[in-house]
Amino acid sequence: MTFQELGLEPMLLKAVTEMGFENPTPIQEQTIPQLQGKSTDMVALAQTGTGKTAAFGLPLLMKLDLNSRFTQSLILAPTRELCVQISKDLINYSKYLNGLKVTAVYGGAPIMGQIRDLKTGSQVVVATPGRLVDLIDRKAIDLSHVDVVVLDEADEMLNMGFKDDLDLILGNTPPTKNTWLFSATMPREVERIASKYMETPIEISVGKKNQGNENIQHLYYLVNQRDRYAALKRIADFYPDIFGIVFCRTKAETQEVADNLIKDGYNADALHGDLSQAQRDLVMKRFRSRTLQMLVATDVAARGIDVNNVTHVINYNLPEEAENYTHRSGRTGRAGKTGISIAIVTPRESGKIKDIERIIQNSFTKAVVPDGVAVCEKQLFHLVTKLHDVEVKDEEIEKYLPKIYDELKDLSKEELIKRFVSEEFNRFYTYYQNSQDLNISNEGGNNGKTTRFFVNMGQLDGFNRNSIKDFLAEVTSLNPRLIFNVDVKNSFSFFETENKCVDEFLALNKKGIEFNARVISFEVSKAKSSGGYGEKRSYGGGSREDGRRSYGNGERKSYGGGERKSYGGGERRSSFGGNREGGERKSFNREGGVGGGERRSYDKPREEKSFGGNREGGERRRRFSK
Ligand code: AMP
Repeated sequence: MTFQELGLEPMLLKAVTEMGFENPTPIQEQTIPQLQGKSTDMVALAQTGTGKTAAFGLPLLMKLDLNSRFTQSLILAPTRELCVQISKDLINYSKYLNGLKVTAVYGGAPIMGQIRDLKTGSQVVVATPGRLVDLIDRKAIDLSHVDVVVLDEADEMLNMGFKDDLDLILGNTPPTKNTWLFSATMPREVERIASKYMETPIEISVGKKNQGNENIQHLYYLVNQRDRYAALKRIADFYPDIFGIVFCRTKAETQEVADNLIKDGYNADALHGDLSQAQRDLVMKRFRSRTLQMLVATDVAARGIDVNNVTHVINYNLPEEAENYTHRSGRTGRAGKTGISIAIVTPRESGKIKDIERIIQNSFTKAVVPDGVAVCEKQLFHLVTKLHDVEVKDEEIEKYLPKIYDELKDLSKEELIKRFVSEEFNRFYTYYQNSQDLNISNEGGNNGKTTRFFVNMGQLDGFNRNSIKDFLAEVTSLNPRLIFNVDVKNSFSFFETENKCVDEFLALNKKGIEFNARVISFEVSKAKSSGGYGEKRSYGGGSREDGRRSYGNGERKSYGGGERKSYGGGERRSSFGGNREGGERKSFNREGGVGGGERRSYDKPREEKSFGGNREGGERRRRFSK
């Protein structure tokens, strides 16, 4: 389908073609034939970036009587930035129309100038609701000839508390007008506006109802609160070509994050309401021209941002209202491009991911915060590509080359390459060589400095999550709280512990602790200690299976079903709890301190009914109980 086939007027067609619009976007395909020259209300469910400005702008321009100076179209938008953007777009589309005047009125700018502008007569007024109410109160605008009202980003306007203003404005426009409402989401309040002010509107939806933009991939990283900023830096380092918006919740946090990024050498700046309009304009100008790589912004300040090719939206934390996530992520994946929306999430916030998934009708992928090695590798190859593609200013560099060649003449090509890339690589390597894993698993509760262990004991040994934790705490004399994210499988288990406790477990391997004649072995799990996605799958691999098989059925049987059950309830507890209190640990420790290398069993005498004690007498090895 072409614009011509949609029936777009030749003058508008010429302008949009010059703007590089080759074919209409899906929403334009739907609105242009339905709105132009017709008198109808419309509700359109559309994300930002779908081409919705032209979807209402082009039919709106075709309805205007340019011989009249009355205001015939009123467009309401939530922010100053969006108002300015819409006006600019309309002016561009109407390049070949004579006599059109568009005026944008919004808060944060002197009202008198806007009043003067309006007095000269504008067929189209683009306004923020608050400022327009002000102008209505001052009788500075005549809305009696309005025949189209566009509510752009209606959900945002309601989110921002413009409900009463919208009611007042719509009540001040002629009842005969048509209302075209655009919204990314359809909360009840937007539906209320639609049913109150519209008559059998045509309904248009690009994508499913409430569905987010398909071009956007949603990822989340689970980290501890204190690692939030470190995770942000990792992301920035891992995507050297990032051109992104970092969303924060408050103005203070926005400023702080931007300041820290600048201090740490990133090309970033802040955008929030405490900045003067001139400062905000400057930041936006730098961002639009891509002089700025990362814009750190509040939701409100970033609402009107219409910048194409944003590669990443980073939710430094999730928005208060899950609905706002759609607006944030909609800043990327625009005009058919793909984009990534990343949420940095702490365990406490992770529940919100589900709410957002419901709203965007799309799922998040849990991603692994890249580790130092991955970042260094990425940076290294980025540098190689950069070196390869660098523009060489032959004339300017010419005069220095002889001296440079001379200085480097004893180096081979390979040596030269090595040195050139090391210059940059070393910086990242030095920074990241001792970097920590920032990921934590879904269960949360650790401090991000953990190691995941595999141990060859599981449900078949009568263990559950708590009992194995008690057991591990007892054999290591560690506080059970230092053992977490326990995952008990049939004949093996995984658990995490803080890095400082790793040696305690590895030492047990050396001592050869036994449990029912089987040597218990602790292995540092190769999977990410803290739940990178795909972690579970990686345990399913052959080596684990082999390991499990090697314990054999027979051996498992020797623990005996009934005996195993004895761990399930109070009995098991008493064998642990009671003994621990009652000096059992002491005897274990005492014994544990001697006889390096000697195999020890953790079995207890049969009568104690502790860990699988039903073994045949002859086999009993040295034990730690009395
Ligand atoms: P919007 O959803 O109106 O903010 O538009 C998103 C971006 O897509 C803007 O930069 C528009 O200039 C661009 N755009 C809108 N319609 C088209 C089209 N038919 N072809 C190419 N780009 C478009």
